[in-house]
Order: sequence, then structure tokens, then C-alpha cells
Amino acid sequence: MIRKTLRLLLCSLVLGGASLALAQDYPSRVITIIVPFAAGGPSDTIARLTAQAMSTTLKTQLIIENIAGAGGTIGAARLTQARPDGYTLFIHHIGHATAPALYRKLPYDPIGDFAPIGLINDGAMALVARKNFPAKNLKEFMAYAVANKDKLNLANAGIGSASHLCGMLLMSALNAEFTTIPYKGTAPAMNDLLGGQVDFMCDQTTNNTAQIKGGRIAVYGVTMPARIAALPDVPTMSEAGMPNFTVSVWHAMYAPKGTPQPIIDKLSKALQVALTDATLKQRFAELGSEAVAQDRATPEALRAHLKAEIDKWGPIIKKAGVFAD
Ligand code: ASP
Repeated sequence: MIRKTLRLLLCSLVLGGASLALAQDYPSRVITIIVPFAAGGPSDTIARLTAQAMSTTLKTQLIIENIAGAGGTIGAARLTQARPDGYTLFIHHIGHATAPALYRKLPYDPIGDFAPIGLINDGAMALVARKNFPAKNLKEFMAYAVANKDKLNLANAGIGSASHLCGMLLMSALNAEFTTIPYKGTAPAMNDLLGGQVDFMCDQTTNNTAQIKGGRIAVYGVTMPARIAALPDVPTMSEAGMPNFTVSVWHAMYAPKGTPQPIIDKLSKALQVALTDATLKQRFAELGSEAVAQDRATPEALRAHLKAEIDKWGPIIKKAGVFAD
């Protein structure tokens, strides 16, 4: 009995020592960040800017692997199969909190299977349409969309994506259902919007600011309580005719559960430094997004935020009766 206890003690000391040694050398090679949406879209953009800024502190390259589909749940499931050694990380948005209510058969636990590293940003969304959409402002959009609801297509990035959540809010505010077209991300959805193959979508400004400024798509409002500096001429949805229509999209970084704490701490520190980087802050601002304050880019703050968001969205989604298998 005593011998067994000693062996266990020795074993945990050796393992503890190994994980400390691992953390001291960490990182010694390239880190991969899984992004669960298509390349070139909003989550990809946020992840690439963050990875670039973190690489300065970590002195290694952080590359993005886009594993898209099913509103981000395929990429999330992939992370849970990765080795918890700090070399595979994950950046996802609010959809990580809504997935448990939306997916009946979610193959992972968004809290238990992930080691939080920290929050990254809060970003605006904007209601946009193909350039020739026959409405000059939100009031006209509302009237036209309701009158033509059977003919109109609403693009999104799959169930649980931010564009899906915003689209659900829109349908509920208009009391109208549209045919929804799911894509692997809003980058490919934007291509079809530019080509006029889909009619409209509610998408993060990270993905549509340049197209709005270039006059290549129509815009009806931003989803923040106040106008955003990146698009000062665009009214808020509330201002333009849909009171209290506010959605903001947060992204966060995770590692697989079981990743040694010293590695998580190193990553969180590097994230906090990255979010103060002048280039990152400027690019975020140009895209209508804001880096979180340092005290939110921590494992504790993300853990609490994720839980609060799961608790907030669960009942809303259950009431709306939307599910995916
Ligand atoms: N974040 C998704 C993307 O990067 C879009 C969305 O969630 O609506 O494509």
C-alpha cells in the first residue's frame, strides 16, 4: 500500500516536472490555431491579426487552419481531439456559447472539453444586401422584405454562426421567415452577395466594412447601441427603425482541456500583450471591432463569460425552437 502511494507520488512528481520543463521550452515550434470558418471571413481575420501580434511575444509562428462547417462545431470538435500540448489552439466566437442549445448531438462540452485562454474582441455586425436591393433605408428594407418574404434569400455561416443568430433576430423582429442559405463562412457568402446570388445577410463588420465603403453592397444599419467609428455614416439599427436591435460578437481563444497551466498562462500573457499592439488595435478599429481590456483576456474572465453566455442564450434559443442535428 505504502509502496503504491510512493509510486503514485513519484509518478506525479515526474509528470509535474515534465510539464514544467515542457512549459519552460514552450513554444519551440509552430503553433496551429484552428478557426472553424472559411478563410478570408471575419473569424479568420480576427484570428490572423491576433496570431500575428502574438508571434512577436512567443517568438514562433502561429498559423491558421480553417476547419469550417456546421456553424463552427466541426472545428471545435477537431480541437478536442488534439494533443493538449499548446501546439493546437482554437479561436471561435459567440457561437461556442450558443452551440449547446442549438445542436442536439454536440460531440463535446464547450466548457469541460476546452481550456480557456482569454477573450479577444467585441465586434459590430451590419445588415447588408446585394447592391441593387430595392430599398434605400431600413424602413424601406423592412417593408420590402416582409412583402416579398417568400422570394428572398438570407445568407448565413451555418446554424450557430453570428450571421445565423443575427438573422434569427431579424426574422423575429419582422415576424417573417426567409429561405436561409448556409455557407462555410461569410467570406463565401459575401462573394455570392456581391454577385447577387443571395439577397441579404447580417454579418460582422470585419467582413463587410470595405465592401460598404466601396459602395459594392447596400447597408441598412449596424447592430451596436451607438454608431461605430469605422462606418460613421451608417445608422444603428435602433436609430434606423428597429429599436433595441443590438448584437455584438465576441471571439475568444482556447486550448484543449488538459493543456498544462504554465502553457495556458504563457499564452494568455502573450494574448494580453498582442491586444495592446498598435497595429492590431488600428486594424480592429478599421473593421468595427474592439480588442478587449487586458483583464478580460484571461482564462478566468473567459470561463465566466462563456458560462454567462451559455446561460443567457440557452433559454432564448429553446424558446425560438431552433435545432440542428
Ligand atoms: N464568423 C463567421 C465567419 O468567420 C461568420 C459568422 O459567424 O456569421 O465566417
